[in-house]
Formats: sequence, structure tokens, C-alpha cells
Amino acid sequence: MSGLTSVPIASIPLQRFESVLDRQTYGAVLEHARWARELFAGRALWNVNSTARGGGVAEMVQSLLAYARGQGVDARWEVIAGDPAFFVVTKRLHNHLHGNAGDGGRLDGAAREVYEETTRANAEALAERMASDDAVLLHDPQTAGMIPVLKQLGVPVVWRCHVGLDRPHELTAGAWDFLRGYVRQADAYVFSRPQYVWDELDRDRTVLIPPSIDAFSAKNQDLAEDTVHAILDVAGLQEDGAARTEASFTRIDGSPGRVERRAEIDEGRPLRSTDPVVLQVSRWDRLKDPLGVLTGFVRHVLPHTDAHLVYAGPSVEAVADDPEGRQVLDEARELFAGLPAAARERVHLVSLPMTDLEENAAMVNALQRRADVVVQKSIAEGFGLTVAEAMWKSRPVVASRIGGIQDQIEHPRSGLLVDDPADLAAYGRAVTDLVRDAPRAVGIGGEARRRVADQYLGTRSLVQYTELFARLLP
Ligand code: UDP
Repeated sequence: MSGLTSVPIASIPLQRFESVLDRQTYGAVLEHARWARELFAGRALWNVNSTARGGGVAEMVQSLLAYARGQGVDARWEVIAGDPAFFVVTKRLHNHLHGNAGDGGRLDGAAREVYEETTRANAEALAERMASDDAVLLHDPQTAGMIPVLKQLGVPVVWRCHVGLDRPHELTAGAWDFLRGYVRQADAYVFSRPQYVWDELDRDRTVLIPPSIDAFSAKNQDLAEDTVHAILDVAGLQEDGAARTEASFTRIDGSPGRVERRAEIDEGRPLRSTDPVVLQVSRWDRLKDPLGVLTGFVRHVLPHTDAHLVYAGPSVEAVADDPEGRQVLDEARELFAGLPAAARERVHLVSLPMTDLEENAAMVNALQRRADVVVQKSIAEGFGLTVAEAMWKSRPVVASRIGGIQDQIEHPRSGLLVDDPADLAAYGRAVTDLVRDAPRAVGIGGEARRRVADQYLGTRSLVQYTELFARLLP
């Protein structure tokens, strides 16, 4: 089965970034944009992945491609097609790359046959659309099988791996073995961190580009303080914001959006606009340790401060097809219900509506801006998007010293890292110190913002991709 689906891409001018970058960085970004325009004059850059919606990768691709078009590059986006048997194999690859046995199935010869048949058909479909001067950027394991077919056309092919694991597992090694033969044939492979680069790949073809966030999306765009309170009021996340303005935000296509839905909240009493807030935004997943966040807060922060804990995750309906998510949310609720009344008064378990993802993002944005301290008590993390999002909003973040978070936060300058994610007391001390020492929190928040502006905005990725394709294009 083939039949690529083209995804429409907006075109957003880079001039937007003038307001958020320093002059020197902004100048360099425009310089690279001119270079990219010249490099890609008369050719298209075809991006291929397996989904247009849902998930951090699709979100990032959508935003980067809109800026690529804004800088004058003819960027295209195609989503591959496959039958259920193909997606069983790619799901298995995904699970194995995360060190998880999934359905227990093997990546054997039969799996390879299914995988190759579909990736070949998709590559052939892409070849029909492409011109001989074009270039290709394939994303993630679902597309790696396309590399050998596309290489036969003589076009530059780059493969971008968004997946990464701190401590590879034997399952991970099996998935790499499955993919390595295809990936090796690419002209370059892009990974997020040096630790995620697979063994036996050619170092000269390896490029490191960290993930990025979109400074202007509903999740990260600037919101006036009044708007933050208005959004929290409307969503039922705060009771007395006395909003003097609308709960409005700007959608990615530039149209106005408004927060209308209410979150579902377990709490002893509603949050007030003057309560200090400690926040973690995460899926209901054991690797985000919501129970540890709750217990750590109740034992080690609550007695020493007047702060409230808000743990916000996606709505129950959104986790309906995710049995583990459902179970973790139930366990968090049970733990909450068993707290003494005085502790329940200062804990808020929030399920954010997911019907309109941009509305959901605006709620996350408002919560992050409202927080005095943001926590990311993960046990494993490739790259903590929530960490970058909070840092961009000048929030001091306390996070586990694991995975990509260690690159993002330079302890103790632009955030605080806790060596052992299981050490609730150490977490509690770091959070308590920041809640009680506002000047320090503000100082760290300022450094955090600078760190993201410098390293983790899409403009930096665009510069890096331009440098990469400059090496590959004739
Ligand atoms: N997120 C969201 N709504 C929610 C909970 C999380 O939009 O209710 C977002 C969060 O802001 C971040 C992403 O989901 O952009 C999670 O990415 P991260 O890298 O932190 O963790 P992952 O869930 O990919 O493991």
C-alpha cells in the first residue's frame, strides 16, 4: 500500500523572531536564511514522516517547515501510508527503541518483508513527485526503509532520528540492527544528543541537532499577565483572578483563539490568584512519576512554604486508549483522596481538555507562566519539551539529572538538577529554596530564557539544517 498524503504548510516569516532574539543572533539567522534560499533555489526539500498530527515530532516538523517556507525554501511535507501490518512492525520498532517489549513480537525476516514492501512503495510514490535536483529529509524509523530506494535517484537523503534512550537496552540494539542497513546509506543522519548516536554509524555523516520549541505557538507565545489569569479563570484552574480581559490567544494560522472549556480538577479548594504555585505538566505516565511529585511536595515542600502543587496532564478521555495512563491517573487520584485535608487544600490534580489542542496548549502556557517553580521529576526523558517550554517563560525549573534534561539545564545557573530522581527530600529542598528565595528564582529564570533563545528555538535548528544541506547539495 502506498499513496503519500501531502500536508499543507503555512509560511511564516522569520522577521517574527526580531522581537525575541538578540540583534547578533537575529542577524545571523537572517544571513543563514539568505544562504538557504540560494541553496534551495529551484529545488524542493521533501520531508517525510508517519503522522501529521499528534505528538511532539509532528508539532515540531509543522513549525520548522513553516519557518523554512518563510525563509523562501520550497519545503514539502508528505505522510507515508501503510496497512495495519506495517504499523504493527513500526510500533514494534518504536517500542523496542524505547526498551519496551510491546506486543512481544519479533523484528524477524517476516517483519522486514512487510517493512520493506511498504517503505519501498512509499519511496517510489515520492520519487514520482520529486525532481532530480530536490533533497529529502526523512523522519524517524518508519521512513528509514525509503533510504536505499531514494539514494538510487542520486538525490541527497538525510535521516532524522527523534528517538533516543539514555541507556540502550537489548531490545533497542535489536531495533538498531533492523534499521542500520538502511540508515547507513543516507548521506547524513541527525540525532538529538551524542549519547543517542548508534554504534557503527559513520561519524563524519553524523550531525547533532537538538529538538526545538516554537516561540509563537499557543503553547509558548507571550501572554499578558491579565490574559494568563483570564485563561486560568475560564478553565476553572483559579477562582478569583478577577479577569479584566478575554481568555484569548493566537492560533498558529494567525486567527484568534479563545479558551472556553473547563479542566477537570481534583482539589481541596480552588487555587487563588495570590497562591504560590509549584507545577509539573506531564502525561499520566510512570516515567514522569506523578506519585513521587505529590508525595515529595506533601512531605518536603508543603510544611515549609505556603505553595500549592498543580500537576496537569491530558484529560481522562484523551487517555481512554492508554490503559497505563488511565491507571496512573487513578493512582494519583487515590493518593490525593487519602491525603489529610490540610494537604488536599494545597494540591490540584488537573486533567486538561484535549478536544482543541491549541486551546489545551494555551492552558499549558498560562499554567507555566503562572508557576513560581516548575518541576520535571522524570525518571527517563529524551528531551524534556516541558522543561524547554517553562525555561522559555523564564521559570526556574527543578528537574532530574537524566537524559536530555542535562543538556538543557546548566545547574545551578539556568535551573536546578537533582542527581537522583528518587530523592524526594533533595527535590523538596530545591523547590522550597526557590519558592522562598524570589530573587534567586528570578535570576535563574532569566538565565533559563537566554538558554532557550540561544539553543532550543526553531531558528537554531534552521541554521543547523542549512549548514548540513550546504555540505550535501551540489
Ligand atoms: N502537554 C500538553 N498537554 C498536556 C500535557 C502535556 O500539551 O495536557 C505537552 C507538553 O506541554 C509538552 C509535551 O506534551 O509539549 C510533552 O513533551 P515532553 O518532551 O515533556 O514529554 P513526552 O510526553 O514526549 O514524554
